[in-house]
Amino acid sequence: MPEGDTIHYAANRIRPILEGHVPDALETLHPRFGRDRWPERLEGQEVRSVDAHGKHLFIRFANDLTIHSHLRMTGSWRVLDADRRPSRAAWLSIRRGGKAVVQFKGPVLELMTDSRTRLDRRIAGLGPDILAPELDTARVLRRLREDDPTRTIGDALLDQRTIAGIRNMWKVEGCFAAGIDPWRPAGEVSDEEVLAILAETRPRMQRSAADGIQDRFKVVYGKAGRPCPRCEAAGTISLVKVRGQGDDNRPTYWCPTCQA
Ligand SMILES: [Zn+2]
Repeated sequence: MPEGDTIHYAANRIRPILEGHVPDALETLHPRFGRDRWPERLEGQEVRSVDAHGKHLFIRFANDLTIHSHLRMTGSWRVLDADRRPSRAAWLSIRRGGKAVVQFKGPVLELMTDSRTRLDRRIAGLGPDILAPELDTARVLRRLREDDPTRTIGDALLDQRTIAGIRNMWKVEGCFAAGIDPWRPAGEVSDEEVLAILAETRPRMQRSAADGIQDRFKVVYGKAGRPCPRCEAAGTISLVKVRGQGDDNRPTYWCPTCQA
């Protein structure tokens, strides 16, 4: 499932191809675009910027039109050689200088005005992006404290209104790295402990956003029933547990011994 770092990684790959350039060709490949006329509406327009916020990606054009995408569980962005014919799962192809930026399987892919991207409820309500150049931690804490204090910290960290870009895998690894039990109610987790989770998560996600390699950060994620590596290093055997958390029942892995 795409997490914030996946989207930033995609933006980082798309940016050098499109930013500051007029695309050679733009093609909508999915029948749902029928009469939307994207190629005409974006013809001759330079790409001003490519940016990401949480799981949203924006390609902003000089005429104030912006392509907005949200990948949900299924979508992806790829950079391919322009002469390679994209599969039928491709929704959009933007070619420039021998490369093609291709969007697969939507599911949210729309053209909107730049001002609407700032007013749209789905986007304007987002909390600070975990991968923003300067993370506004005071605002993250404020939003967290406005949320239900009985909600578990693991679940609260997935709320994109509190902090954008963290999804289940990073929540699991962030809580483990900081030694915090993801099942504690958020109201009983101190500001310092929340900041510790963010401080562990952010650099890992930054590295993953830079090179797209996420699996090396999975220490307890997907490791139910295996010995916790931190406890093992300290000479104790404690098995990693898993249980569904929150309304979405996200599989949450943790060590019952060293996560307090
Ligand atoms: Zn442990």
